[in-house]
Amino acid sequence: TSSQPTFDTTIKRRKTRPVKVGNVTIGGGYPVVVQSMINEDTLDIDGSVAGIRRLHEIGCEIVRVTVPSMAHAKALAEIKQKLIKTYQDVPIVADVHHNGLKIAVEVSKHIEKVRINPGLYVFEKPNVNRTEYTKAEFDEIGDKIRETLEPLVVSLRDQGKSMRIGVNHGSLAERMLFTYGDTPEGMVESAIEFIRICESLDFRNLVISMKASRVPVMLAAYRLIAKRMDELGMDYPLHLGVTEAGDGEYGRIKSTAGIATLLADGIGDTIRVSLTEAPEKEIPVCYSILQALGLRKTMVEYVACPSCGRTLFNLEEVLHKVREATKHLTGLDIAVMGCIVNGPGEMADADYGYVGKTPGYISLYRGREEIKKVPEDKGVEELINLIKGDERWVEP
Ligand code: SF4
Repeated sequence: TSSQPTFDTTIKRRKTRPVKVGNVTIGGGYPVVVQSMINEDTLDIDGSVAGIRRLHEIGCEIVRVTVPSMAHAKALAEIKQKLIKTYQDVPIVADVHHNGLKIAVEVSKHIEKVRINPGLYVFEKPNVNRTEYTKAEFDEIGDKIRETLEPLVVSLRDQGKSMRIGVNHGSLAERMLFTYGDTPEGMVESAIEFIRICESLDFRNLVISMKASRVPVMLAAYRLIAKRMDELGMDYPLHLGVTEAGDGEYGRIKSTAGIATLLADGIGDTIRVSLTEAPEKEIPVCYSILQALGLRKTMVEYVACPSCGRTLFNLEEVLHKVREATKHLTGLDIAVMGCIVNGPGEMADADYGYVGKTPGYISLYRGREEIKKVPEDKGVEELINLIKGDERWVEP
């Protein structure tokens, strides 16, 4: 009981409705869901089953699969059955491409969620001389879209399944482009049009995405759709991602810049980090973003100083050793500090501290309390003993 003022630093998430995708729920205050996409050909049944399983085992909670043809839709039915028989019922999203309404209706019978891209529902013929659409022309195409979409919406609605309306900046329909420009507004209008069609058919199991490969465009589009939906009383969860983020360090930073910025503002209920690497590489990045923001805690949080001239041991090496020994534990915060010059508060109230004391010696802390001083070569071993003594250790 302290009389010190406190400040609540937890992120206040935008209120959204819960949307069920099989046994996983997106939105409704549930933990932010991690998803990715396999890159096997869906016609390769065993390869796809293995790919989905591999992703699911490392924490991908919903797996997306591409379905470009009727043969792929039928293959997905087999993939799903095989997963249930040989592993478990992983929630699957089918990515269905343009002119794919029949495919979408077929695949909706076999999996939990269908992703469509409004930009690919094109009825206008690209016309190089045209510069605008009249309202009548605009609405006429809207009616055609509604008619086309209805069987899919009804199928998903009647089965209690869900849909992602996935707008992409790079593929807006021509009439949206001419009316709103190649802008976040055009992306938002495109999504709202599809949401209205679904609502008019009493279907609300919707998740919305507004992906772009440029982070500022993506940020603007997601912020605008969140604002517009709030104004319109629409509470659909948002799926966040930066498309074509690339690979390596910059791909990760670019994805994080977009995804984390929105999550910090309370926007976003499910995320995908798109890397030009094996999809398994995306999952740890997703969990790291969520952990850094305090939205989900799935691994040990390490607090470590950057080291400086005062550092009493090889900090990089020791942090690596501590991490290797403790990374399988969950829910712990462990600090590794070169010295205690600024006091134990610098350890951000970690559960345990490993701190340089005098040359050749380490101090081990539990919270802010110094527990014992040990020779450096016994440091990691004694840290483990301390954690074991507190009954917070589990064998790897
Ligand atoms: Fe340097 Fe000590 Fe700060 Fe680490 S904790 S950066 S060793 S002063």
